[in-house]
Amino acid sequence: MSEPDSDTLDPSSLRTPIVAVLGHVDHGKTSLLDKIRGSAVIEGEAGAITQHIGATAVPLDVISSIAGDLVDPDDFDLPGLLFIDTPGHHSFTTLRSRGGALADIAILVVDVNDGFQPQTLEALDILKRSQTPFIVAANKIDTVPGWNPNEDSPINATYDAQSDRVSSRLDESLYEIIGNLSDEGFSADLYWRVQNFQRNVGVVPVSAMTGEGVPDLLAVMMGLSQRYMKEEMEIDVQGPGVGTVLEVKEEKGFGTTIDTVLYDGTIRADDEIVVGGQNDPIVTEVRALLQPRPLAEIRTESRFEKVEEVSAAAGIKVAAPDLADAMAGAPVRIVRDRDLEGVRTEVEAELADIAVD
Ligand code: GDP
Repeated sequence: MSEPDSDTLDPSSLRTPIVAVLGHVDHGKTSLLDKIRGSAVIEGEAGAITQHIGATAVPLDVISSIAGDLVDPDDFDLPGLLFIDTPGHHSFTTLRSRGGALADIAILVVDVNDGFQPQTLEALDILKRSQTPFIVAANKIDTVPGWNPNEDSPINATYDAQSDRVSSRLDESLYEIIGNLSDEGFSADLYWRVQNFQRNVGVVPVSAMTGEGVPDLLAVMMGLSQRYMKEEMEIDVQGPGVGTVLEVKEEKGFGTTIDTVLYDGTIRADDEIVVGGQNDPIVTEVRALLQPRPLAEIRTESRFEKVEEVSAAAGIKVAAPDLADAMAGAPVRIVRDRDLEGVRTEVEAELADIAVD
């Protein structure tokens, strides 16, 4: 098969890269996600960031307004970034797609003062095994003694605003992290010195508290995705959807539902689906596709609103009969106009893959 020609890819068929956040407990994974969501809400037009089930989509234009000069939207045709809302390596390892990691790209959060800790090493090991490209967010730079905070500033501007003593202190901590990465077999450097992000891990100093470095973090994630993952992001948007179960949940009025991250194609409200179950694949029909209702619209009715279809990449709650045996991490495949037995066999093979690990 010939390689797709990246210059002729149809931008409308490029999906959003899926981003996971990993790192040691208390190093700031949740705060960083909150900061990104918060900045996106402030910068975006109403409704520009979309809260999905289990994930947050930040479109390119919002990334560009947060990142300022660091991201020119004309340089990109990927539509943005989809952040999985549950940080940590448990969710990362259960969330698989076709035997690989569900996340296309990861952020490894390391507290600049605390440095490498046991779960940092575990996360690195997982990233190495799954061959997931990642960058390191060296977080909590605002806690360097004497730090002069500059809310939401790009890192070069905030560096300039620090005294020599403070910036050398930060440099020392950053080089320690770079040294630790090297001990683990990763060639790493401060992100602005990295030429090839496939060979070297970029380290981005950030503060989830003040937002400093968040513009850089988003710019690097976007740049890395665009440069190295564009071809993997090419999907048949209208094709039968493929996804992974995030969580199996009872939902009042809907019975058992599966929170699903769709990474290929489309799911529609009347699709037949095959879902990985504890014993056999479950064959069922979608009863409703549910998205969180914007907070302002919640009155006495459901927290969810029904949608007719969603396309990858997206987080969606699927209500359907017979889902009690569905499992987190299991595959979901839409049958559409294909042979049911063929789809069921694919799901069985994927389930066997999960069981081996
Ligand atoms: P998680 O366990 O990795 O998700 O860590 P959290 O996001 O819950 O953060 C742990 C603690 O560190 C919380 O008290 C946060 O407020 C604090 N924290 C996180 N990021 C920063 C930061 O950039 N600067 C400062 N000063 N505190 C932070």
